[in-house]
Amino acid sequence: MSCSGKKINITVWNENVHDKEERVKAIYPEGIHGAVKSALDEDNTFKVTIATLDMPEHGLSDEVLNNTDVLFWWGHVAHGKVDDALVERIWQRILGGMGFVGLHSAHYSKIFKRITGTGCRLKWRESGDTERIWVVEQGHPIADGLPEYFELAQEETYGEKFDIPAPDDLIFLSWFTGGEVCRSGFTYNRGKGKIFYFRPGHETYPIYLDENVRKVLRNAAHWAAPVNGPSPTYGKFESVNH
Ligand code: ZN
Repeated sequence: MSCSGKKINITVWNENVHDKEERVKAIYPEGIHGAVKSALDEDNTFKVTIATLDMPEHGLSDEVLNNTDVLFWWGHVAHGKVDDALVERIWQRILGGMGFVGLHSAHYSKIFKRITGTGCRLKWRESGDTERIWVVEQGHPIADGLPEYFELAQEETYGEKFDIPAPDDLIFLSWFTGGEVCRSGFTYNRGKGKIFYFRPGHETYPIYLDENVRKVLRNAAHWAAPVNGPSPTYGKFESVNH
């Protein structure tokens, strides 16, 4: 529940392309977005809506965006199909206070690159390595209720260097059985908006069914939700002391 007692409105956006492949449908019959929604639906202070690339306006009309407190984003092969004008509208909403949670290959989406201002490239390998995710900022709200580390039996490997600016908070650091490490959960503040990126979630493994991952999604939604903070003023300004 937000400070005012209102529900937190969450929109889960997915490009919904891999989700039509048989091997992905076998894991996620309701799509990746359906699994993310089901994790969030376990918290009844959230009101969760789905949006996908193939909907009119990619499911993110002004009305939807203006009523979204936290936007979750999963994309991979269709980053280039996301409308540039929509990316700009999302960016303006983030600056105005909307939370944003980027999942897995969303690291290479237009909106995530806009948030970071960097290329966001990294190493990757699809070999089914085990991922061990260490909590490295134990007091952070997104780590609430988690063990010191947890493992995902099989995942796509991401490795450093991950071309991002230094995060405001680095919460998770991953190690893979192939030997790579990767910053796998971190935050930025942009304008009044709070951004969290969470690495796990390759489409061919049941990552969003894992209880620790699902907890992180719920924690992130609470953390990224807007607060009723002051709006900054910019430009020439008289002294506030008289
Ligand atoms: Zn992947």
